[in-house]
Amino acid sequence: MEKVGCSGRHLWWARRDLSPTAPAALAAAAQGGMAALLVLDPHFPQTPVRHAWYTASAAALHEELDGHLDIRQGVPEEIIPAFAGEHHITDVHVTGESTPYGMARDARIEHLLAARGIRFHRVGSPYLVTPGSLHTRGGIPFSRFTPFFRAWLSSIEPVATPKLRASWLTVPSRFPIALPHHPYLPAPGHTAAMERLQVFIDHQLASYDSERDRPDLEGTSGLSPYLKVGSLHPRDILSAVSTHPSRIPFLRQLAWREFFADLLHHDPESVTVNWAPAFRGFPWEDTSTLREAIAAWKEGRTGYPLVDAGMRELLATGTMHNRVRMVAASFLVKDLNVHWSIGARHFMDHLIDGDLASNTHNWQWVAGSGADAAPYFRIFNPTLQAKRFDPEGTYIRQYVPELASLPLPDLFEPWKSVLRPRVYPHPIVDHAKAQRAAQARYHAFRASARHQRDD
Ligand SMILES: Cc1cc2nc3c(=O)[nH]c(=O)nc-3n(C[C@H](O)[C@H](O)[C@H](O)COP(=O)(O)OP(=O)(O)OC[C@H]3O[C@@H](n4cnc5c(N)ncnc54)[C@H](O)[C@@H]3O)c2cc1C
Repeated sequence: MEKVGCSGRHLWWARRDLSPTAPAALAAAAQGGMAALLVLDPHFPQTPVRHAWYTASAAALHEELDGHLDIRQGVPEEIIPAFAGEHHITDVHVTGESTPYGMARDARIEHLLAARGIRFHRVGSPYLVTPGSLHTRGGIPFSRFTPFFRAWLSSIEPVATPKLRASWLTVPSRFPIALPHHPYLPAPGHTAAMERLQVFIDHQLASYDSERDRPDLEGTSGLSPYLKVGSLHPRDILSAVSTHPSRIPFLRQLAWREFFADLLHHDPESVTVNWAPAFRGFPWEDTSTLREAIAAWKEGRTGYPLVDAGMRELLATGTMHNRVRMVAASFLVKDLNVHWSIGARHFMDHLIDGDLASNTHNWQWVAGSGADAAPYFRIFNPTLQAKRFDPEGTYIRQYVPELASLPLPDLFEPWKSVLRPRVYPHPIVDHAKAQRAAQARYHAFRASARHQRDD
């Protein structure tokens, strides 16, 4: 049914804003008759779990739009102009992008559409503050988190999200893809995300600050997969927590997501290149000599129970607790001296919340090469981290079942225990030695860099 008196024919092209309250959807609906389209783009190779999550989220959106979402597979540069031409679309609305690929793709499509007289509108972003819009007093991008957080906090305000009231154009809306099953996926869609948010506010937010580092507890929100695909927008979160007395530590974490998106916006090369120039030329190990160690890390066979639990959680569920991500990443980069981009690629392949900005810059943060990063010589001790953050070993027992019957403290250092099951590997490196080697490597690198500067 098309609205009487509406102007133009509007297309909402949904990408990582899979919610009926996405700003681009609301903008399209406010202008006139609308259609909704999602394109499965082969540019994003999808491992089974990521594909399962994205398609499940798309299917939920299809339902939330009462079946008014058309899904196509192929290259957006071909599909969007063809769809627009076929259905006499006058305006295309998208949520603005800040990733290198997304920005370049949108610029190409805007150009193709303009040649046909079709307008292209970028509406908002997947963030509370659009990447690139905050600057220091000196007018340059932020490179430290705390001042960014202060500026960010003073520029955000809760706003009510209107409901989508659309006059749907009569265009096809097919859902031509099979929905793969994955046992660990959260319930997909905007409604499920809002329910998850409410449960978190009611039961976990008050203790978030003290429990968020504990992988053995349900201390965090579990909202990152929804934020990744946009079933949830951070403004939904801000409105819901805006009067809660414990909101600040939680908003602070959300601000890291925005800080990293801002960094990527300003420095697209940081996806592969060390953000800190001082790290360029760092002597990472030649990975061809480390194939077995890297495989052991990926499969959760390093002999360090917390690292192995995390890496197996990732493979089994498509997610991993933040504290364990830091420990597992530090092990790869510092104990094994492997370039962070190898670990970042593996995480991106398997995480259902895998997000270019957050993933890249968290890896760089752990490696010490990022903005406001942990200093290189801060090297996580996987055994001490396990004792501190998984004190009963509950998390380790869940994901490393062959160690489940070990008593404490043997569980944390099975190589010292006569009870170590033979199927569980001996540590692939000695952490204490690896730590000393990493520190020596770093100091030698810094000294040689200083020499070169002085010459
Ligand atoms: C090596 C490494 C790789 C990571 N890769 C990703 C990634 O690809 N995608 C991703 O969303 N997060 C990534 N993170 C950050 C963090 O681990 C996840 O955001 C968090 O575990 C998600 O769980 P949650 O929603 O329960 O988090 P909560 O603790 O409930 O936090 C709320 C929200 O704040 C944001 N947030 C929290 N911590 C961080 C952080 N350190 N950096 C950026 N945003 C944060 C997330 O959007 C999260 O959903 C990575 C961290 C590390 C150390």
